[in-house]
Amino acid sequence: MRWIEIDLDAITYNFSQIRQLVPEQVKILSVVKADAYGHGGVEISKALEEAGTDMFAVTTVEEGVELVNHGIRQPILVFAPMLPDQAETILEKGLVPTIDNVESLDALADFSKKMGKEARFHLKVETGMGRTGILPEEISSFMERLMEYPQVFMEGIYSHLATAMMKDKSYSQKQLNLFLHILKEIKKEKNVPLAHIANSAAVLDMPEAYLNMVRVGTLLYGQYPSSHVARRIDLKDPWQAKGRIISVKKLTPGQSVGYGRDYMVRKPMEVGVVPIGYADGFGVLPHTRPAKVYDLVKSTAKIFSHLAGAVLANYMICEEKRLPVVGRIGMQMSMIDITGHKIKAGTEVKIPLRRTTSGARIPRIFLKNGKISHIRTLP
Ligand SMILES: *Cc1c(COP(=O)(O)O)cnc(C)c1O
Repeated sequence: MRWIEIDLDAITYNFSQIRQLVPEQVKILSVVKADAYGHGGVEISKALEEAGTDMFAVTTVEEGVELVNHGIRQPILVFAPMLPDQAETILEKGLVPTIDNVESLDALADFSKKMGKEARFHLKVETGMGRTGILPEEISSFMERLMEYPQVFMEGIYSHLATAMMKDKSYSQKQLNLFLHILKEIKKEKNVPLAHIANSAAVLDMPEAYLNMVRVGTLLYGQYPSSHVARRIDLKDPWQAKGRIISVKKLTPGQSVGYGRDYMVRKPMEVGVVPIGYADGFGVLPHTRPAKVYDLVKSTAKIFSHLAGAVLANYMICEEKRLPVVGRIGMQMSMIDITGHKIKAGTEVKIPLRRTTSGARIPRIFLKNGKISHIRTLP
């Protein structure tokens, strides 16, 4: 009764747009963390592997294990710095850990010796995100320790930009410069094949940050990171959440809609019920900032046109009409005002649903060439 359609061709199209923008010698790492931003980690990874991605990244070891267990072959970088007790799983599953301290390096080296297996990792460097990564002043002692472990291979070095989606790129430039400086110092002692710092915003706005690999998430899923970035490539939206109206109710003045009687009926109306609610992530919409004055005027006009007592932020689309959500959003049900539209129970609606917070239990219907290729339903 509610589902999300994922157009795999749109994902492949977006990948090829990025591939064409970024020079051939620059590798592409596809970020498929958080269930591929809500689109379905395994299925999206399979499509991207076919499209020619060079590498994947997820946040947690568990996410990486899931992909490996489903047959993903390209290397998978785990963004969260490895904890010493994760070394064994990482080596067993062939994941590429992020290391940002000596203790974890020791653990990785220990296990690789025990298991008789070479280990590789990417060193994360903190350059201004204030999150994970080794501090620049700790790097030289880290490098000294690394020299003691011939079976441990530092395959890459990376850092993460905090403000690349903003108009002012001076902070990003500062981060990049620090990163380049560190890279130069490290390369005096050891060759490192991969260096990466560019996310989606930098892919569009900072070609000087490409180095030899870029890490893209947002663009793959058909979205621009902000309204400030250059829209240098064409993107297709692979995502559409849908549902069916399961009940239509005629209500008269004095009655109310939903929990708490937040919405009071003032004139005869018709209400449609759609089986989606906050447990599915419905009602959690991002605030988009207007890019130009024109957008601001447009969105303000929209708000005024909906000032009929309806909740402004939440709506659904039915037969091309934008219908406001009325009453409090329930755990798994929401109501829309369908007055005067002659909409019957069973009718399909489009639901604006934020991808990364959309419930994993909502079935994902994957489309290829306009046909259903696979349906994912979680138990
Ligand atoms: C999420 C993430 C990315 C991808 O960012 P987008 O802006 O979605 O392209 C890249 N690098 C790291 C470390 C991330 O956590």
